[in-house]
Amino acid sequence: MKFVLASNNRHKIEEIKSILQKNACEVEILSLADIGYTDEIVEDGTSFEENALIKAKTVASLGYIGIADDSGLCVDALNGAPGIYSARYAGEPCDHNANNEKLLKALDGKEDKERSAAFVSVIACAHPNGDFFTVRGECHGKILTSRQGEGGFGYDPLFLPDGYTVTFAELSFDEKNTISHRAKALAAFAKALPPFIRQHS
Ligand code: IMP
Repeated sequence: MKFVLASNNRHKIEEIKSILQKNACEVEILSLADIGYTDEIVEDGTSFEENALIKAKTVASLGYIGIADDSGLCVDALNGAPGIYSARYAGEPCDHNANNEKLLKALDGKEDKERSAAFVSVIACAHPNGDFFTVRGECHGKILTSRQGEGGFGYDPLFLPDGYTVTFAELSFDEKNTISHRAKALAAFAKALPPFIRQHS
């Protein structure tokens, strides 16, 4: 059975393949484009888990094992916002610069101890027979008062991971991929996937 990642993001597909391979998990992963799926999947869930499952189950309904992820930044002082709305925090279409500006404004005047936050990544896997599982990875840290660094994407220049003196945007690609929320979720996924495959083969 083929695995289909509910995304057309080549970068995500390569990242998932590479981490699964590092964890001795050999699977063939196709994109939505590879299977000719062009409809938009409406992500109207209320949590990362619900949104990831909506996407994975859409693919599973087409007869493939569906894999999907959903991620974002949750800031404690903002009751978890921007959370599932991270990509469109400052409105549509996604504008990382405007999102960072809005976040800085929302935390204006907050002291260091009130700036705690976590990046969250949830990966869902759904089988055509209705079985599914989800895994979650989190990376905790705090939001700085101004941007630092040029690398990465999204909220990376504002996020200082716990135990580090540099932001996600100042870490190398490999360093970020060792400690990130996505790396943790993918490691958990690589562990959970083989028994799920065995159970359904
Ligand atoms: P997606 O679910 O991977 O598309 O991520 C949704 C949004 O969360 C992105 O548009 C970013 O705003 C934010 N985000 C997720 N992961 C990261 C990250 O590793 N660095 C910075 N921002 C991220």
